[in-house]
Amino acid sequence: MTSADGRPAWSTFRDALERAGFRPSKKLGQNFLLDENMVRAIVRDARVAPGDRVLEVGPGCGFLTLHLVRAGVELTCVELDARLLEIARALVPESAGVRWVEGDVLAGKHALNPDVLGVLPTAPWHVVSNLPYSVSAPFLACLCDLPEPPASITVLVQREVAERIAASPGSADWGPLTIKLQGHYRAELGRSVGAALFWPRPSVESAVVRLELLPERLPRAERGALDRLVAHLFQHRRQGLARVLGEHWGDRARALAALERLEIDPRERAENLDLATLRALASQHRS
Ligand code: SAM
Repeated sequence: MTSADGRPAWSTFRDALERAGFRPSKKLGQNFLLDENMVRAIVRDARVAPGDRVLEVGPGCGFLTLHLVRAGVELTCVELDARLLEIARALVPESAGVRWVEGDVLAGKHALNPDVLGVLPTAPWHVVSNLPYSVSAPFLACLCDLPEPPASITVLVQREVAERIAASPGSADWGPLTIKLQGHYRAELGRSVGAALFWPRPSVESAVVRLELLPERLPRAERGALDRLVAHLFQHRRQGLARVLGEHWGDRARALAALERLEIDPRERAENLDLATLRALASQHRS
């Protein structure tokens, strides 16, 4: 189970996968991180302490899980693939007290699975995961709408998604996911993880992104209007604001008046507006 220096060895996990005749599913994003140093580095990046409550989505065969257990955290794991869950349960010592949940972390694209909602750790809690590609963006967006969202989120995702999450206004990556998350979290782009460190090797590069809950989140009352505004504006991100905002509100004159009040050039594009300006615009429609 452990390598010469006492660390959990990937070979143990690889052997278990082989014995089970496991064939990874591309659809489920089953690319396992097999580099021990990198797994340890990700646990360090997460800055979790013994006793912290952590949710891991997609533990796979339990390699990152075991390193999290070694960091002394109290762990809840949600895994969709029953075959993997069985392997992970056999390899992670029972004494670690991991709470294993079999199921989809999501219910559709826009909600967490109610079974998962029922087992979320009590606040303050944290997310540390190597997320499956298809789940990353919707899962992270759903966390923002929880009454008690995680205090920190450290996830390994496709590099492109990590860059989007940590983007600044004016960049091509600044968009609905960035804005949603940055209304609740301070985002920090972390280490890159090359494709060669996974089995099977994915076709894209990955990166760690860390999110830390802001002392003051976007107030609940503002969220719906802001989400709708951002969704519409970024569908037409290259068009002038007067036009897109006018369409969104069904009233171009009102849009022009609001832009004037906020001293925003009507030819400006949505992609150049920061969060504060977008919030101000969303509130104009309500007022
Ligand atoms: N944690 C392991 C690692 O670091 O090597 C595996 C990570 S792998 C990128 C993603 C894992 O998420 C797989 O084990 C996959 O079966 C699981 N998964 C995929 N879709 C899921 C979903 N909707 N809900 C929960 N787990 C899911």
